[in-house]
Amino acid sequence: MNDKIPVTQVEVPVPPRKTIESVDLYQSRKKIYVKEITGLFQKFRTVSLCLLMGAYFLVCWISVDGQQWVHFDLPNRQFHIMGTTFWPQDFVLLAWLLIICAFGLFFITTLFGRVWCGYTCPQTVWTFIFMWLEERIEGSRNQRMKLDQTPMNKEKLTKKSLKHLSWFLVAFATGLTFVGYFYPIRDLVPDFFTFNIDSGWAYFWIMFFTVATYLNAGWMREQVCLYMCPYARFQSVMFDRDTMVVSYDFHRGEPRGSRKRKEDPKSVGLGDCIDCNMCVQVCPTGIDIRDGLQYECIGCALCVDACDSVMEKMNYPLGLISYTTENNLEGRESKILRPRTIGYALALLGIMTAFAVKLSMRSEIQVDVIRDRGGLFQTNAKGYIENSYTLQIMNMSNDSREFHVSVSGPESIRIIGKTQVSLAPSELLSLPTVVEINPDKMTERNYDINFRVESAANPDIAAESESRFLGPGPAR
Ligand code: SF4
Ligand code: SF4
Repeated sequence: MNDKIPVTQVEVPVPPRKTIESVDLYQSRKKIYVKEITGLFQKFRTVSLCLLMGAYFLVCWISVDGQQWVHFDLPNRQFHIMGTTFWPQDFVLLAWLLIICAFGLFFITTLFGRVWCGYTCPQTVWTFIFMWLEERIEGSRNQRMKLDQTPMNKEKLTKKSLKHLSWFLVAFATGLTFVGYFYPIRDLVPDFFTFNIDSGWAYFWIMFFTVATYLNAGWMREQVCLYMCPYARFQSVMFDRDTMVVSYDFHRGEPRGSRKRKEDPKSVGLGDCIDCNMCVQVCPTGIDIRDGLQYECIGCALCVDACDSVMEKMNYPLGLISYTTENNLEGRESKILRPRTIGYALALLGIMTAFAVKLSMRSEIQVDVIRDRGGLFQTNAKGYIENSYTLQIMNMSNDSREFHVSVSGPESIRIIGKTQVSLAPSELLSLPTVVEINPDKMTERNYDINFRVESAANPDIAAESESRFLGPGPAR
């Protein structure tokens, strides 16, 4: 039997093709043309930026008693800050200070969102100045857009050259001033223009900061905030429903749409947003705050000013975009005192107290003792046992001071020779010192001894250092 199985055509189901999406890892920058706006928050910003810029450019020119008020003197390892000289030994204070700044930032961010970014961050400050110059030279937003689209001509070349020259001058002043905090500015400026600076590093750093400022504030602008700043990425973990952030009142604004000025929005089924796009045009990071809170938002509140000016023209209540909290937007009450803010405030207070205590206990004198390696001990003409040391005494204050040197240890211990020294401000003195002990009083082969150096005028200004006194052992 030839049982043939009939072959039938079976349709094999074809699995649906997967859609493959490709994502370009490099996103080319779309130039943002920021519209200039005036308003309450813009005034705050102007005041804060002027104060900060003024401080940056002027503080290095202040001198007290011939000493630059803020001067980081790296070659001599001294840091003169507001009349006090700090040394590398004081770096622990710097660590405390950085911790205070970090907690201060967390505390402020929890309460007021990204006010640091919007009002005080150097990137914001310098970008603001560069934008201001751009607006003065190239004109308003529309004029700048038009200028960029026109082919190169005499007018465009002149405006672009003037803009870049002005940017470069501000950047150069920034670089020169920055280096002026490390190289006395009153010497740096004339030395720079007469090519008298000894170190090529000073020229290098001036040019480095000039180029960095020009690129960051002139070209990269919001790119620094969006892609380079780590703070933008983690700030949201400090936010809660009671943090003040720039927000759009969705319930009030939607549905958005254009309407006649006198028309009642409710009668045409619209909310208060007239969809004029002003809030987007003034935003330095180019976002639309109506899409909700975004990490790109630096909290500058320019959109608040822009929207308020529109609301005013429309005769609507202000505050469609405002500094508010999520709870307020949802009609609930906001609290300032909450576990998170109390925690940060307590931590900040504790660290600041510890810093103040550490600062008040900071010694203005330092002493190190080096035992001479020449011999263990020697016997002098009186038959006493002698050990030799070198005391390294540093006057860490800004005043000349007389110091008294003493030693304590077993009975009869005393210093032979000089016990009064005078040190100029910041002077380091190496003082050879011989100490003797009557061998009849020695009950041990060696002793711990303690050197003390104290100010002749104020014994509270003192420092101590330990060493060893070696001898032949108890007399038999
Ligand atoms: S959305 Fe508003 S607050 Fe945020 S960066 Fe833009 S203009 Fe500033
Ligand atoms: S500025 Fe105000 S009214 Fe204009 S689009 Fe933005 S939110 Fe709407």
